Amino acid sequence: YFVSPEQFKENTVEISGEDARHISKVMRGKTGDKLIVSDGISRETLVEIIAIEAGAVTAAIVEQLEMTHEPALKVTIAQSLPKGDKMETVIQKCTEIGAVSFVPFISARTIVQYDAKKESKRLERWNKISKEAAEQSHRNTVPEVLQPLTWKQLLPTFESYDAVYFCYEKEEGLQLRDALRPFMQTLRSDRAPSVLLLVGPEGGFSEEECRQAEEAGAASVGLGRRILRCETAGMVALACILYESGEMG
Ligand code: SAM
Repeated sequence: YFVSPEQFKENTVEISGEDARHISKVMRGKTGDKLIVSDGISRETLVEIIAIEAGAVTAAIVEQLEMTHEPALKVTIAQSLPKGDKMETVIQKCTEIGAVSFVPFISARTIVQYDAKKESKRLERWNKISKEAAEQSHRNTVPEVLQPLTWKQLLPTFESYDAVYFCYEKEEGLQLRDALRPFMQTLRSDRAPSVLLLVGPEGGFSEEECRQAEEAGAASVGLGRRILRCETAGMVALACILYESGEMG
C-alpha cells in the first residue's frame, strides 16, 4: 500500500480511506497481519496491524526494507492520446513493466479531444490506475501520469532526459536496438539515467513531427518490421529498453 510521508508516525503508520477499506473488507485483514507500505519515494516498510476498522488501520513498524523493485533506468512514456480507454491499458501495462512516469500529449493526428479544464477526472482516474498497477506489481514507487501537453509544449522537455527515442514505423535506418547498445555503454552505476519514449496516435506521427523531434534531440527509431497498435508500441519498446539494460530477469 502506498501512504504519504505524513501517515508515518514515530512507531506506527496510519492507513485511511480506500486502502483501509480494502485491507479490512477485501483482504479481511486482522490484527497481527503483516503488510508492506511504501511512501512512494524512498521508504518501503514492513508493518503489523495493531488496530483495524473499515475506515482506519493502524500498523506498527516492524522493519525498513530495501527498495528492490525499481528499475535502474528511468523510462517515461510520452503517448499521443489514443482513442477510448487505450491510455488506461498503456498506463496499467507499462507500470507493471517498469515505466517511471507518463506524459500524454496531443499531436497533429491525435483523434480524441482533451480539455484539461473539463477532464481533471480523467487524469485522476489514470493516476488511480497507475497506483493500483504499482501495488499489484510490487513497485516501490507510483508512476505519475502528468497533465497532457501539446506537441509544442513537449518538444522543449526533451533536453531534461539522457536519451529520447521517437518511435517511428517509417524509420528505415536506426532500429531501437541499435540506438540502445551505444547508450547502454555510457551508463554509470552512480545515477539512474532517464529515457523518454515517444509513441504516436492511431494515425502515426507526421514527417514534420519527425523532423521537429530530431531537431529537439530525439533519435527516430524503428521497432521491427511489423506495425504495432499505438497502445502496444510503448509496452514493446519499454520492455526492449529494460531488457537491454539487464532489468527483465
Ligand atoms: N493504426 C494502428 C493503430 O490504430 O493503433 C497502428 C498505429 S501506429 C502508426 C502508432 C504508433 O506506434 C506510431 O506512431 C509509432 O510511434 C508506434 N509504432 C508502431 N509500430 C512501430 C514500428 N514498427 N516501429 C516504430 N514505431 C512503431
